[in-house]
Amino acid sequence: MSDKLNQFSYNESVSDSINRAFQFQKDIVNFKEKEKELNKIIESFISDYPKDKILELKLKEYVIGFGAKNPSFCYRIENELKEYGNFHGSTSYKFGLYYGKTASDQTVKYRTSKNKFGNNVEDALIKIKKEIVSLLNAGEIGNDEKIKECKLAPTYRGKILATYFSNRYLAIFSDDHLNYFLEQIGENPDFANDPLDKQKKLIEWKNSQQHLKDFSLYLFMRYLYFVYGRPSKNNGNQSKANILTDEQEKEEIAKSDCWKDTVQPNYDETRKKKSEPVIINGQKQYERDIKEAKKALKRANYSCEICSEHPTFIRKKDGLPYTEPHHLIPMSFSSEFSENLDREQNIVSLCSNCHNQIHYGEGAKEMILKLFDERKAILEIIGIKISKTKLLRMYGLK
Ligand SMILES: [Zn+2]
Ligand SMILES: [Zn+2]
Repeated sequence: MSDKLNQFSYNESVSDSINRAFQFQKDIVNFKEKEKELNKIIESFISDYPKDKILELKLKEYVIGFGAKNPSFCYRIENELKEYGNFHGSTSYKFGLYYGKTASDQTVKYRTSKNKFGNNVEDALIKIKKEIVSLLNAGEIGNDEKIKECKLAPTYRGKILATYFSNRYLAIFSDDHLNYFLEQIGENPDFANDPLDKQKKLIEWKNSQQHLKDFSLYLFMRYLYFVYGRPSKNNGNQSKANILTDEQEKEEIAKSDCWKDTVQPNYDETRKKKSEPVIINGQKQYERDIKEAKKALKRANYSCEICSEHPTFIRKKDGLPYTEPHHLIPMSFSSEFSENLDREQNIVSLCSNCHNQIHYGEGAKEMILKLFDERKAILEIIGIKISKTKLLRMYGLK
């Protein structure tokens, strides 16, 4: 029965995308018009920032954070070229260096992506400019290995390549989007592959299609979004699916009131087998019990487990400080364990900012490792064993 249902919705979405493909062809004049406008913006950007001038950029000419009155390299690549590939869900840390504040520190100042470029602002600037130049050198001759060695954030790396070499690199660089489109065209995205390899697979496919092979890469990008839409709730990858169920859990907790029944001096150390998954949109989903999450928040004294000093606010429902539950070993990997992952021991209490950062931000690795060190032993007591590398891989990290 459920197979039949899946078959039906699959056929329905295929015929829908065929209709959209025809519609795209009909509207192609408009898309080409947009392409012309974009090409002008790209041309003026490149003529202002030719490769041989990058190393001369001064701090303020590079950083974002002073607003529109300071149209810097980062400001312009993010804002003028907004329509050309998105920088979805990332902070200004992707630029390696920016001017501004963070949620936990409201001082406005220059900030570097410390683990990549060090603390010193001037040094970081030099390193970043060198990275950009060697990226452009590699991009020019199609040296994939060199491109993959680039230390800039993958989305930023992709944006630079697509801007300077719009005939060679696709302006789609978020892993979510690349995986989604590969799935749509019937390719199996290998989640471990570099985004560059995924782009190449998409371009290969384009060139093999009679109706697409003459499209520029810009038109092809527009075509993909027009025909298949964006990855969303129903068709995102694993980490997306996981945060969405996180969302539901947050809501359930916000609505529920009684916290009294969650008082327990010690962890419940009985073993619990995982529940049978339900298949929703082709993905296995495991049931969650919000009592487990509430116990975890209470045990953390409703503070952020990355740093208890992180600011939070008061829940309007019951006057308790607001933090969010996060499953350290993501629920979406339940199939790899015999034990239930929805246990208090596997749930951490995070402030809203840290919760988003651990899913989408740079610096997530350090957070995961810190939490793991604190939880490893108590997880093992209830039969949940995992290595650091494997855990990091679940978050798409090395
Ligand atoms: Zn989460
Ligand atoms: Zn926090």
